[in-house]
Amino acid sequence: MAQAKVYYDRDVNPELMHKKRLAVIGFGSQGHAHALNHQDSGVEVRVGLRPGSKSAKRAEEKGLKVLPIDEAVKWADVMMVLVPDTRAPAVYDEFIAPNLRDGQMIMFAHGFNIRYGTIKPPKTVDIAMVAPKGPGHRVRETYEEGGGVPALIAIEQDATGQAKELSLSYAAALGATRAGVLETTFAEETETDLFGEQVVLCGGVSSLVTTAFETLVEAGYQPEIAYFECMHELKLIVDLMYRGGLNYMRYSVSNTAEYGDYVSGPRVINDQTRAEMKKILAEIQDGTFADGWVKENETGGKKFLELRAKNEKHIIEDVGARLRELMPFLNPIIATPSEGIKGE
Ligand code: NAD
Ligand code: MG
Repeated sequence: MAQAKVYYDRDVNPELMHKKRLAVIGFGSQGHAHALNHQDSGVEVRVGLRPGSKSAKRAEEKGLKVLPIDEAVKWADVMMVLVPDTRAPAVYDEFIAPNLRDGQMIMFAHGFNIRYGTIKPPKTVDIAMVAPKGPGHRVRETYEEGGGVPALIAIEQDATGQAKELSLSYAAALGATRAGVLETTFAEETETDLFGEQVVLCGGVSSLVTTAFETLVEAGYQPEIAYFECMHELKLIVDLMYRGGLNYMRYSVSNTAEYGDYVSGPRVINDQTRAEMKKILAEIQDGTFADGWVKENETGGKKFLELRAKNEKHIIEDVGARLRELMPFLNPIIATPSEGIKGE
């Protein structure tokens, strides 16, 4: 296996971004972090927002200047598109494309729209990606703590001959080169990101947790016990994996747990699961998943909203909410995807 090149602060020229005007389009999870980190790193920043956007006030309170998206595009040398991926094509068509000029750089934090051709910029601009491997709020918090969240960079189109150096400089101002930046392609980032979130991080883990919880409850065990066992403890195990890999987790648990891991794990995640993973990957690669998701959004997202409504009523959520309330040290949050976060 070839070792990937990792870029750190010592490998990049932070000055490049200081000579550029940066427009951050959108002020959500990633947008606020990119705009504020760059501002603190001494980059000239404008936030591009829709007229009447509720985010404008929040951005201005943080000392940022806000422009309508089309004005921000005209003003900028570099623009980072941080609106939801499903909205980005419309934002691009209406506000960005008509105002582009040669030699500008369009950046993304995820490759979806370039990989699947839902945004097609002209040949005369740079197209690059800096994708932090962490949620936006962590990108901001770790920067403020003097650290950074690792990121991927990718160059899809290098019209100026400077796209890579400039992207690395962008990653430095974001704090990412403090932690390490790896080079990838739009295709690799998009396909592995979709695969990881579907098979492990979101889809795989949610299904594993709920199916195991249901199995215990159907067998007559107390739901509270099932919740602790199948959901709550997961974090403790993942923390061990995060610090020292599977070896450290297996070192830390009992020999009984370790033996059960070896003999039962492969029965749960078996050849059938592996075959299904391969099918899911193939549908990501050939665009089937992307087409379905784009169509779902174009037709109002009915199926998506039905799935969301069904899943947020699962009994594990009621049981968990009650138990977490009694553990204030967890800093529990009441949140559903449909209503967002309450009490923040
Ligand atoms: P988000 O949903 O948090 O924020 C989007 C922001 O875009 C909103 O706050 C608003 O300012 C603006 N917006 C929303 N709808 C709009 C519209 N119709 N027109 C114009 N502006 C609109 O989005 P996010 O999670 O920060 O994602 C932004 C990009 O970053 C995506 O490409 C995503 O894949 C990528 N990304 C996100 C994360 C993450 O932590 N959330 C991690 C890595 C990459
Ligand atoms: Mg991801």
